[in-house]
Amino acid sequence: MCSRRRPIRALLVVALLVCACGTRGGMGQSCGATGVAVQVLGSGGPELQDKRASTSYLIWEDGRARVMVDAGGGSALRFGESGAQMSQLDVFLFTHFHVDHSGDFPALVFSSWFEDRKRPLPVYGPEGNEYMPSTTEFVSDLFSDPHGAWRYLSELVEPGTGGSYQLQPHDVAGSATPALVFRNAGMAVYAVRVIHGVFPALAWRVEMGGKRIVFSGDTNGEGEGLTQLAMNADLFVAHNAVPEGATGLERRLHMPPSVIGEIAANAHVKQLVLSHRMLRTLGKEKETESEIRRRYSGPITFANDLDCFPVK
Ligand SMILES: [Zn+2]
Repeated sequence: MCSRRRPIRALLVVALLVCACGTRGGMGQSCGATGVAVQVLGSGGPELQDKRASTSYLIWEDGRARVMVDAGGGSALRFGESGAQMSQLDVFLFTHFHVDHSGDFPALVFSSWFEDRKRPLPVYGPEGNEYMPSTTEFVSDLFSDPHGAWRYLSELVEPGTGGSYQLQPHDVAGSATPALVFRNAGMAVYAVRVIHGVFPALAWRVEMGGKRIVFSGDTNGEGEGLTQLAMNADLFVAHNAVPEGATGLERRLHMPPSVIGEIAANAHVKQLVLSHRMLRTLGKEKETESEIRRRYSGPITFANDLDCFPVK
């Protein structure tokens, strides 16, 4: 009798192990099967030694990945692991064009080539300046004929040249107060201009299924725009790129925990997720949390790659 039971028990153990791996490791979509959820594809910054994909987020609704925000290095792999399909996306949003927010975009687009997508993919991001391309320039520099780096994919941006769906890039000037940028039957998307040194940058709010989700992007937190954008957010993803006490260039580019806490408190956000974790903030979670806690009393989570946050 025992000898007959043992293999079954062994099989059960194996099955349990496989299931545990499947929640994180590419065994199919497991985030946002019902309702609205945010999945962190990349929780790191530019440093590869943080062993995290760079910045990227997905918003799921009822089993469909509908919005993607940023596409830093490593996010294309995480996108595949999440179980999402490029053909599911309604819109793609860029906060700005630093490499750690945009480097995997061509990989995602080339992957979409092998999917059956027919409808255009709107792509929204900031205007350009002397340091950065605009969103339309960025897409054109990648894919347009004859000068794009991957001009063999030019039919994605030149209508009528092939059977491909179209990328539809748009430059968003961004204002000091939140403004509507995109709307369809299921969602409304707002942007506000934020300060990230000399680089044009936007923070985004997505309203979907009665929920408000806000992404700070990279910013030093100056001005009232981000607080207004984040007002009453159900989920606020803020970037923990510098520790308290940061000075100089770091501080001119990024907001320390005290500023994150102030914005989260003033905006009455219901849940705070900290991402864009860098070597200078990793290991300082205790200090970071206590700085935020002095101002904000809601739930705080430090994000890891592929974490899924159902928005309740
Ligand atoms: Zn960044």
